[in-house]
Amino acid sequence: MRATIECHPMSDKRPAGGPSLLFPHMSLALAEAEAAAARAEVPVGAVVVSATGQVIARAGNEVEARQDPTAHAELLALQRAARQRGTKWLSDATLYVTLEPCALCAAAISQFRLLRLVYGAYDPKGGAVDHGPRWFSQPTCLHRPEVISGVREQEGALLLRRFFHDRRAESGGHARLHSLEAGGQTEYPEERGPPSPKTGQETPTVYDTTNIFARLLRGEIPCKRVHETAHALAFHDIAPQAPVHVLVIPKGAYVSSQDFAASASAEEIAGFWRTVAETAALLGVVEPGYRLVSNHGRDALQSVPHYHVHILAGAAMGARLVP
Ligand code: AMP
Repeated sequence: MRATIECHPMSDKRPAGGPSLLFPHMSLALAEAEAAAARAEVPVGAVVVSATGQVIARAGNEVEARQDPTAHAELLALQRAARQRGTKWLSDATLYVTLEPCALCAAAISQFRLLRLVYGAYDPKGGAVDHGPRWFSQPTCLHRPEVISGVREQEGALLLRRFFHDRRAESGGHARLHSLEAGGQTEYPEERGPPSPKTGQETPTVYDTTNIFARLLRGEIPCKRVHETAHALAFHDIAPQAPVHVLVIPKGAYVSSQDFAASASAEEIAGFWRTVAETAALLGVVEPGYRLVSNHGRDALQSVPHYHVHILAGAAMGARLVP
């Protein structure tokens, strides 16, 4: 039996609803990213929003247009917001950005004294919030915003993947792009499927204690809890794909279904599956029915490298699983 991740009380801060209801401004950031792609820029978009929900500024990457490797969407949006307000600090504002900020932008977020950062896709290679320098955890970082990560992650990552796929096709399949190298952002090679958030590659075999579900178990980020037992935690998926979409995760440090089956104790395995069944009962979906899904590895697009089972319910699921 492996070490159980210390589990703290969960917060129920998030309101109910789909991803666009939860974070409506991320739609604007995604639109900025799409507009950037149309200008042949790496598709990253950002929006700065006031405490009252007003959009102060928005931007997409302008690295190519300006021939400036620092013209990142979030930096431009922050600069525009400060100009717009005529102040140097944005202490009440939230920045929505479709990709994890790099070191330059993370430092700028601190300098602008931003209240909150909400970002989409993880960037294991160029990101500096949950990867690399982890700027906001450095002792020399004097202002730490609240951080919410992985919001509409798949949509942000999909834009990047499509963009690089198209560029690769245009350049006869040659690998890397200058803008990407200059921007230092993670390449999303479409032929391999979306990267695992923490490795950028396939489901790792060694457990990464910084993955999003480990952080959630430690209470570092909030979740909307449905059920908790000695061996497992059930909570609402942040980007529901069905009227009821709940994830069940073991408390032990297991990367995937293969890892769980091979290494968990019989007690943990039984405890986990009992939690799944109890969760379905608590959700009231046993009688109408529910579907269990668990993605393993690259081909199944497992994106979070901590074993989890999806409970999908609340509507007819369709007759079969479509690859
Ligand atoms: P998979 O693609 O099978 O690895 O599923 C990972 C799931 O985790 C996706 O459905 C995401 O929407 C969900 N997810 C990612 N981050 C969070 C989070 N912080 N809270 C709740 N669900 C999340």
